[in-house]
Amino acid sequence: MLKQIQGLHHVTSLASDARENNAFFTNVLGLRRIKKTVNFDAPDVYHLYYGDAAGTPGTVMTYFPFPNAKRGEKGIGEVGRTAFSIPTGSSQAWHDRLAAFTVNGIAQDIRFGEKRVLFDGPDGDQFALVESDDNRTPWTGNGVGAEMGIHGFHSADMRLRDPDASAELLGFMGYEKLDTQGNVTRFIVPGGNDANMIDVATHAGAASATQGAGSVHHIAFAVETRARQLEVREALLDTGYQVTPVIDRGYFYAIYFRAPGGVLFEVATNEPGFDRDEGTANLGQTLKLPSQHEHLRAKLQRTLPPLEG
Ligand code: ZN
Repeated sequence: MLKQIQGLHHVTSLASDARENNAFFTNVLGLRRIKKTVNFDAPDVYHLYYGDAAGTPGTVMTYFPFPNAKRGEKGIGEVGRTAFSIPTGSSQAWHDRLAAFTVNGIAQDIRFGEKRVLFDGPDGDQFALVESDDNRTPWTGNGVGAEMGIHGFHSADMRLRDPDASAELLGFMGYEKLDTQGNVTRFIVPGGNDANMIDVATHAGAASATQGAGSVHHIAFAVETRARQLEVREALLDTGYQVTPVIDRGYFYAIYFRAPGGVLFEVATNEPGFDRDEGTANLGQTLKLPSQHEHLRAKLQRTLPPLEG
């Protein structure tokens, strides 16, 4: 069993409109935009990152906004709902705030004894805000103060037809079974980071998801260093997983593999971090390009849609 994985690093999803996506995560949810860059594999599209003040692993929600992308269809074989952690006692304030912004899909429930506010993002992306004890300092602003600010990820939900193989993989990755409620089993990395839980939901008869705007593209798990990442890569290869070579994503190093049931997993390093190419005080303001795409800057500044205004 691996000991290197700490919990979630980031969650990456697809969107249809960059400006709308930016407004939702900053103005409605009150997260900080911590990086404005492009999809390194398709540089005519943004890669937008939102998180806490520093973009701490375990807080980072990222998007590829493909203009006018068709909406995905929910189903099994995907991460269905991404959950953020909020202060105890703040769920009613969040409910009221989301309602004031006419956010879709607002509902409240309790899972594993924790109060949740459920809601949809601009492309029908499914989210939850979960009341939990969490000492991480939230980013504040845009009408979201410390008393209700988002701490970072709480967990992510995998929707699967048959959960057994994924449960085995999570076990191999260092997750332990914590509890079961209905069709949902919760897994946790003991001693992990503050985003150390995955919920596996079983939907035996459901249709497969189709990826599109509002779908999670992949979830990334955090390891401290490149050395730890290579250990994880070797172990996964030895177990028979098809794992990509290490890819430099500028702010972290990434490897990818497909989990049984269809969800794309990444393992990402906590180093070097989002302050690699701009100061923490100025994160996310100006367009940052990796060296291989710097020659496209003038064109991209003309063609990428403005995020503000
Ligand atoms: Zn990623």
